Amino acid sequence: MGATNPYSGLVGGLSAGELELLRDAVEERRLREGLGFGALAEAAELYRPAPPCPSCGEPSPWRDGRAPSGVRRWRCPSCGARFTSLSGTVLENCKKPLATWVDFIRLTLFAVPLDACAEACRITHQTAWEWRHRLLAAVDGYQGRIVLRGRVWIDEAYVNDTDLSHGYGQARKRGLSRQKLCIAVGIDARKEPVAVVCGHGKPSTKRIKEALGGHLAEGAVVVHDREKAHNGLIREAGCGSESYKADVRDPVYLEKMALVNNLCSWIKRYLWRFTGMDPANLQSYLNLYVYLFRVKRDDEKWPKLERVVRHMLMTGARFRSST
Ligand SMILES: [Zn+2]
Repeated sequence: MGATNPYSGLVGGLSAGELELLRDAVEERRLREGLGFGALAEAAELYRPAPPCPSCGEPSPWRDGRAPSGVRRWRCPSCGARFTSLSGTVLENCKKPLATWVDFIRLTLFAVPLDACAEACRITHQTAWEWRHRLLAAVDGYQGRIVLRGRVWIDEAYVNDTDLSHGYGQARKRGLSRQKLCIAVGIDARKEPVAVVCGHGKPSTKRIKEALGGHLAEGAVVVHDREKAHNGLIREAGCGSESYKADVRDPVYLEKMALVNNLCSWIKRYLWRFTGMDPANLQSYLNLYVYLFRVKRDDEKWPKLERVVRHMLMTGARFRSST
């Protein structure tokens, strides 16, 4: 017999509902000690201490008590709107404890499939689906600000859109690369990544420019595989060019292109986890990939879970349950 846990008797005497409350309280405290906030209300207080009116933008609304969850309520002196500190963020109307959300984010950082997230977080598949789409809404347009500098590697990754919706190996159309979705991928020496959907099949100059044009700093040196469509992009962005003939048996090509080749295969592996996605959402998933890539990269400077919660609270975005 090992040492007895002094709380076993107490816990054994609790009803199912009481046990649930106890677990929530324990998780809340653990979260508070780890991240500095235990409940949604505390995180909102920390990152949205004075939210502007989500209807009219009035910067100094009046305090108006608290919701049952403890989240502060506000009233707008200009337009009369009533809202909470979470209104206008993707955490609006969230009924689960923040600790459950943090578990979900933790699993998402490992690209854990939705069914597994639902089971591990003890939420329904529907809730897990909704939460994933809340995360996607919070990173909408996220890549717009990313600019690659210095040495920049670019390439394309191809995925079958039927693979995205049905799973690899099922309902696969044969051959024709024209049927494959192209993803333009770039990464620089600081490991800043971008991944942008670039239509079907081999990209034209126009499509590559649309995908990567805004993401290259003038004077960057673009390292690429001599794909013709790259030249117009590189010229227009005022960048230098360094190219290697694509040949997977050539060790020089492999070494010079390793960074972007790896990124392409990570992205494909990541997408493979989400089979069943609507190909129309591919760009959103790529935004989430790039966001999480940066979050993990900077974990030592900015602890990742705290950073994602902060992002979700500070980003004005709304989840729409239209589907
Ligand atoms: Zn207002």
